[in-house]
Amino acid sequence: MSRFLSVVIPVYNEEENVPELGRQVTDALKNLDVRYEILFVDDGSNDGTWKAICDASSRHDGIEGIRLSRNFGHQHALLAGLSHARGEAVISMDGDLQHPPGVIPALFEKWKQGFDIVNTVRTDGAETGGFKKMTSSCFYRLFSSMTDVKLAPGSSDFRLIDARVLEVLFEFRDTDIFLRGAVQWVGFNCATVSYTADRRFTGETKYPLKKMLKFALGAVISFSNKPLRMGIWLGAATSVLAAGELVYILIRYAQGATIPGWASTMGIISFLFGVLFIILGIIGLYISRIHKILQGRPRFIVAERTKAVSRRFP
Ligand code: UDP
Ligand code: MG
Repeated sequence: MSRFLSVVIPVYNEEENVPELGRQVTDALKNLDVRYEILFVDDGSNDGTWKAICDASSRHDGIEGIRLSRNFGHQHALLAGLSHARGEAVISMDGDLQHPPGVIPALFEKWKQGFDIVNTVRTDGAETGGFKKMTSSCFYRLFSSMTDVKLAPGSSDFRLIDARVLEVLFEFRDTDIFLRGAVQWVGFNCATVSYTADRRFTGETKYPLKKMLKFALGAVISFSNKPLRMGIWLGAATSVLAAGELVYILIRYAQGATIPGWASTMGIISFLFGVLFIILGIIGLYISRIHKILQGRPRFIVAERTKAVSRRFP
């Protein structure tokens, strides 16, 4: 009996990419000795993406889809797809053909050799823009220096995971899960396959700079309390500075030369308050995580699904 593989693809306003991707992924899978499903997750698109998915699903047996009730963001859409995937292993990839379906056989091969997780790294070709290369490399450097989880530069959510890894991932209760970090954190037998990213097939990136920064901050906070510890050091350093200032003032006072000193007092007060508010803000970020977890809201809501799909993980 051949093995069963799921391919999960979150899509947000990718109506023109869905049919082409369905075709290319089917082509990549049909020469492998495998039964498969291609599961598109429509992350609350406001174009014809859901219709494109339903059309593809009615034409091809292996293509299925779920539609979320609104836009929940890439990571949650991916999680929604993973929770409905029936495969013994699941491949996740982007819906804009930047992750070439031609790499799927190499991922499958590594899984057959016994690896539980097959990651990919992007070797930056001419197709990756300079800005993307720069922001991506800054992110991986920041993430690795702030956390104990080492992510290779050029990592992405293009990977294969065995169903037993998937089961463990659903034990994570993080409300804002950072799957790349979580997959690295759980361990297991990992292999890596490299590929050259293609250009986006059609449409524009759904990750403008503001969203990228929010994503990066969330990822670090999920896996590290270093920002809180840095707050302690920052507080300690400024306290030493303030103590120095106090000694200076006392000496000047003893010399009977107390300066009128409005400027220096105000300077140091505003500096200290600035530092204090930064630290409070950092603490606030962690508290808001706790708040979200206590609220226990669903991480995604499924509004519709094609006939063969049902939920496998809670
Ligand atoms: N995406 C999503 N929900 C979002 C934003 C993006 O499902 O809120 C999908 C998007 O359709 C694509 C993948 O996530 O399939 C990666 O997004 P994109 O290609 O825009 O990111 P980039 O490659 O530019 O980093
Ligand atoms: Mg892309």
